[in-house]
Amino acid sequence: MRIVSLAGGIGGARFLRGLKAAAPDAEITVIGNTGDDITLFGLRVCPDLDTVMYTLGSGINEEQGWGRADESFTVKEELAAYEMEPQWFGLGDRDFATHIVRSQMLAAGYPLSQVTEALCVRWRPGVRLLPMSDDQTETHVVVSDEGGRRAIHFQEWWVRLRASVPAEQIVLVGADDARPAPGVLEAIRDADFVILPPSNPVVSIGTILQIPGIRTALEEKTVVGVSPIIGGAPVRGMADACLTAIGVSTSAQAVLELYGSRLVDGWLVAEQDKGVSLDGVTVEARPLLMDSPEATRDIAAAALTLATTLQA
Ligand code: GDP
Ligand code: CA
Repeated sequence: MRIVSLAGGIGGARFLRGLKAAAPDAEITVIGNTGDDITLFGLRVCPDLDTVMYTLGSGINEEQGWGRADESFTVKEELAAYEMEPQWFGLGDRDFATHIVRSQMLAAGYPLSQVTEALCVRWRPGVRLLPMSDDQTETHVVVSDEGGRRAIHFQEWWVRLRASVPAEQIVLVGADDARPAPGVLEAIRDADFVILPPSNPVVSIGTILQIPGIRTALEEKTVVGVSPIIGGAPVRGMADACLTAIGVSTSAQAVLELYGSRLVDGWLVAEQDKGVSLDGVTVEARPLLMDSPEATRDIAAAALTLATTLQA
């Protein structure tokens, strides 16, 4: 069985762990979001790719959901002592090593897809992890504050401001000229079906869908999505702030409509959202809280079963 899954960070990575457990023999290709990527202290940081890599490679800080386990912050403290900005982004010592390796390889001319493959030699995530594109794209957010109306990097809005200032617009800078990374369209073409995990529909899944060619390729396939919204709220995080910014309400129904029936064939919602429906989409209600490895595996298994049924 060949499965393609898109993925953001925490929600995507946790779901993928369940997917691997539900389909241990499947060949899984993950198309990761790189819209969150940022250059800090001269180093290229890819938060969502790293969250997937560390989670599936057993190096993640489990409680936090991102960053390395057993982490220390000496470099961060030393940078702060030099008054180096930004100080709002937490990079740990172990994590720094990943960004150093990546930046060195990028500077030597390797594309991000090859760099990611090289990093995965150590982490053995058990999936093929591809960035959505080798071309640099960055999500920027338009806000108005005491500094006037300006666009800031997504990470500054999300991490420094905790999405407390309303986003007037969310833009993937560089999207128009970006091409899918090598292997992305081929993996979609060769997949038996595609899973959309419960990742952020705007700045994780929505970002990947903006890379020219990806959405069209996915529309040809059987696609099953898992709702990231349960009972009108994102389970954790601030995804509602992103949905509001693009004029979509925070509900499993609205996210389904955002993806649309051309893209999605099956949609898993939580039991309290069982009224959700859209022409041309099979909706199933079941527990969707990824609160244990078993529960997460069951969600993934349900997505696989639905996809198999729809594909037949
Ligand atoms: P990020 O890049 O780290 O923000 O992670 P993702 O984009 O992959 O996933 C974040 C989304 O996962 C959040 O917006 C939540 O709505 C969703 N999420 C987190 N935990 C759960 C869960 O237990 N169940 C479901 N259905 N969604 C979840
Ligand atoms: Ca992210």
